[in-house]
Amino acid sequence: MSNILQAPALQAFIACAENGWRRGWHERNGGNMSYRMTAAETDACRAYFDESDDWTPLGVHAPNLGGECFVVTGTGRYFQNIKQNPAENIGIAQLNPAGDAYRIVWGLTAGRVPTSEFPTHIMNHSVRVAVTEGKSRVIYHAHPVDVIALTFILPASAREFSRAFWQAMTECVVIFPEGVGFVPWMVCGGAEIALVTAKEMERFAAVIWAQHGIFCAGEDFDATFGMMHAIDKAAQIILKVMASGRPVLQTITDDNLRAIGEAFGLRVNEAFLGDV
Ligand SMILES: [Zn+2]
Repeated sequence: MSNILQAPALQAFIACAENGWRRGWHERNGGNMSYRMTAAETDACRAYFDESDDWTPLGVHAPNLGGECFVVTGTGRYFQNIKQNPAENIGIAQLNPAGDAYRIVWGLTAGRVPTSEFPTHIMNHSVRVAVTEGKSRVIYHAHPVDVIALTFILPASAREFSRAFWQAMTECVVIFPEGVGFVPWMVCGGAEIALVTAKEMERFAAVIWAQHGIFCAGEDFDATFGMMHAIDKAAQIILKVMASGRPVLQTITDDNLRAIGEAFGLRVNEAFLGDV
């Protein structure tokens, strides 16, 4: 490898960011993404690392991620510029052995500061690694218009959002049979929203942030981007049906959802089915 940008992990990261930009989810410096590198990927890139920066405290503690490396977007950087100039807009952050501080070892040449949501990313990685037995690697935050619009008009709960998405499109319950989490409006960019979101991520791979956007977690870029895309599409369908002004004559019933679970061998979250 004559250039770190030839690393497949970096190429996949850049392609995913470009896809998000093309879908219109990343106005200005909106959104952020991180990828937990495998040990082999880290070893392959290590020749390009500069490990001379001081450690910066994270404000949160993720002992199960100590020493791991993350590809991450930079604070104030624009997704639209990542493909053209990766080294300026993304970087690799290494955690200290305790998992409570980081340093930039490659990239982010202007400022060497990761996204302001890096504490949220690290807490989400920490939880998802624990609940997926180490499989989860990507955390992706975006601002899809129709999902944000829905947070003004649907009741503010994980149950209501999960049911609305499941009923909008048959595929949704297959992609996220556990449902989606929900975080009411909060100040973003700090430890408080990181802890609230991570609590939701114990049960859900996708979490809605009211009047803000979504966080998705997954094992690879395709699965994570696909989850975001499916939720965004379901939100568009819900809004189109509402905007038609026509009464809903039929939908996907709870028994239909249970039948999909049986057919696909999935455990649909029973707490979100039936009356409360
Ligand atoms: Zn955001």
